[in-house]
Amino acid sequence: MRYTHVLIHYSEIAIKKGNRSTFEGILLKNIREATAKLLAKTYKRFGRVVCLLDENSDIEKLKGILEKTPGISGFSFCLVSSQSIDDIKATALALAKSFSFESFRISAKRSYKGYRYNSQEIGKIVGEIVFETLKKKVCLKHPDLDINIEVTEKEVFVYSNRDTFAGIGGLPVSSTGTVLCSLSGGIDSPVSGYMLNKRGCKVIYVHIQNNSLVTREVEGKIFRLCELLKSYQGKTKLYIVQFSEIQSQLLIAVPADYRMIIYRRFMLKILERIAYLENSKGIVTGDSIGQVASQTLENLQCIYEASSLPVYSPLIGLNKEEIISISKKIGTYQISILQYPDCCSFMISEHPKTKGKLDEVKAIEENIKSADSLIELAVSKARVYYF
Ligand code: ATP
Ligand code: MG
Repeated sequence: MRYTHVLIHYSEIAIKKGNRSTFEGILLKNIREATAKLLAKTYKRFGRVVCLLDENSDIEKLKGILEKTPGISGFSFCLVSSQSIDDIKATALALAKSFSFESFRISAKRSYKGYRYNSQEIGKIVGEIVFETLKKKVCLKHPDLDINIEVTEKEVFVYSNRDTFAGIGGLPVSSTGTVLCSLSGGIDSPVSGYMLNKRGCKVIYVHIQNNSLVTREVEGKIFRLCELLKSYQGKTKLYIVQFSEIQSQLLIAVPADYRMIIYRRFMLKILERIAYLENSKGIVTGDSIGQVASQTLENLQCIYEASSLPVYSPLIGLNKEEIISISKKIGTYQISILQYPDCCSFMISEHPKTKGKLDEVKAIEENIKSADSLIELAVSKARVYYF
């Protein structure tokens, strides 16, 4: 079937009463930016965003983009008819004829309540013509083919379940604010960034670079991850911050068993500083309780205390298998599992504290010379990339 339009459905935006039109506007803008050159036009109709295809629209590419755009709960390739009931009948019949099926149903909906037929009447009139012409049986519960008719104030959209696809839902990126995500190159943190995208946040990624032989390999991985994560949120900013000078100081001042906790506190302080520059309202990590030694409740308490901004860890209650399954679905898994030797394992104790104590952490940090200016300096020397 040669479709002319795509009808985009969203669910959560619809409940945000007062802000509805702002949210819709942001979704529209995001779709326009992501699909530039693929579509003739994109516009709003009551409760929907509509894309007008042109002859050369690359359907597979478009589908790939819409499936990855937060805020879209689903989308349907469709035909358009005028409000004339004869035109609707002819369009629905043409659509039905393009499929092989045994049973069918007509599901009609009106966003334009002034239309002369109500939904039930439309269903009945259109159902009759499909039944009489194609001799297929009507099944209201589990039809093979579900033909949808949506009457708007201007045009009527006709589509079926066969060319309707699920989106990732949630809220459009940039509708809720900006957060910073601490991106390590492992499996978890990119998944965290994606989760925040789904909740409408624009995510700025920050990678802290340790002083090690494998820096180049990790950096390549971080670039590839950002390139991929861009497909969920559009233009993506990445900071790479050198940790080596801070690390040398910490190596002197911090006993081995507390290094991991204090390294991570300094990472958070770096992110907090960047968050301030970016007017960002929160920090995101890939922590999950109990996954590694740094992620016991006691240690997370010691680590998160370093930040005055809220730290969001959307994977906190997920099992590793669940995280892996999301990372496979979003495509980061294959990049995250690329092997490289663990860069700081040789500097961390073999027996790190699993129950860190905040008063001990604070006492150790007293001995770290000019911590604030080291952080300031590291941030001022950060490299910034755009994807
Ligand atoms: P990941 O969680 O990304 O798979 P990981 O499992 O190795 O990494 P940890 O090393 O314990 O986990 O790190 C926990 C969290 O700390 C990460 O999810 C990430 O948010 C942050 N983090 C760790 N290392 C870095 C780094 N080099 N740069 C930025 N953030 C980091
Ligand atoms: Mg982890």
